[in-house]
Amino acid sequence: MIRASPVASGGQHALRLRRMRQLAGAAGPVPAWYPDARPVAGPVRAIRPVVWRAARLVAGFGELLMATAATLPREKPIPLVSAEQLAWGVRYRPWPTDEHVTVALPVDRWLARRTWMCLPGPPRTGTVIAEVPSIATPLEQQIWRGIHEGAHLDHLAYLARGGPRVPSPEEFGRGLLVAESYAMAVEILAAVECVLDGQGLAVRQLGAGLIERAARLPGGLKPAAEFVDLPTLAEVYLLGPLELLTAARGGGPGAAAHRAAVLPGELAATLAARWTQACASYPPAAAFMAAAQALTGAD
Ligand SMILES: [Zn+2]
Repeated sequence: MIRASPVASGGQHALRLRRMRQLAGAAGPVPAWYPDARPVAGPVRAIRPVVWRAARLVAGFGELLMATAATLPREKPIPLVSAEQLAWGVRYRPWPTDEHVTVALPVDRWLARRTWMCLPGPPRTGTVIAEVPSIATPLEQQIWRGIHEGAHLDHLAYLARGGPRVPSPEEFGRGLLVAESYAMAVEILAAVECVLDGQGLAVRQLGAGLIERAARLPGGLKPAAEFVDLPTLAEVYLLGPLELLTAARGGGPGAAAHRAAVLPGELAATLAARWTQACASYPPAAAFMAAAQALTGAD
């Protein structure tokens, strides 16, 4: 994948890959065709206006969720164990799977970054989740693992039904943009379902997660260093789920086509069914969607 892309300098991201490779040891020296670690050359484009609007909308919904969370019962967090957190998330993920294997990775989460992937060998789908020493609270990790990364595993497993694809195209490039759109759509769905279930702590954490995705945009209130030179990726966590969820509810004329183009069959249908139900049961979600529809339709 890296060899096929004409990237000369990868800045902080190339540096991270080099550090990972040193740790891996068995992977050998960095190949000559790897991007070097000089800063990414040329200007980095600004965040698009439609994304700033999406950011305000998503952060506003996050604030509403946090205010709602304060009125809900406080459930007990799930222990810091990957399998238990993924099992908790099953009921909030529209197409849950449990076909992955868990591998221990002796690096911290910031160095590992993406912990979901397809690797050669078992299981049938090739899906793997890396267990890394946690730097988060059990509740933060419960949402990352049980909802967001769980949704990534479901997505990979769905695409591998005809046989494993290693690596999966969903791990890189345009495929990664779809993957993050799906994981964020599942987070928003889970937030509403957790409101309906009276899971106050999960709702608060999911709401805070939405606010954080808006604040971390380059030029945002709390920009994240890792996204400074990746505006397209930073944007997709905000606009991507709105596009998928508005498509899931019918949306404008292009919505169904968009849904079919980016998210395949049953994965799209199960998301659509659950989100339609969630909006019917929780009016603020329907209002959020109406605003999202105006925004995605206007772009
Ligand atoms: Zn993700």
